[in-house]
Amino acid sequence: MVKVTINELVCKGCGLCVRACPKSVLALSKTKLNAKGYHPAEVVDQAACIGCASCARTCPDVAIRIEKD
Ligand code: SF4
Ligand code: SF4
Repeated sequence: MVKVTINELVCKGCGLCVRACPKSVLALSKTKLNAKGYHPAEVVDQAACIGCASCARTCPDVAIRIEKD
């Protein structure tokens, strides 16, 4: 089981992680705005995640954490 967590407070909504994910696990929120005024990335299909960590490596703000158990 892999869990992806996005720190929405740090995210600047650049979308790099969304493009990096091969499984369409992530998307930019259409409704949420964070304190910086950005639409943050969110997890939309946790079950599809394969734990490749492409998203975390791509994020310039180190906002993504991958946990495996
Ligand atoms: S770890 Fe891989 S599959 Fe999971 S959300 Fe990140 S890029 Fe997508
Ligand atoms: S790459 Fe990082 S800063 Fe950019 S949308 Fe994804 S989580 Fe947010």
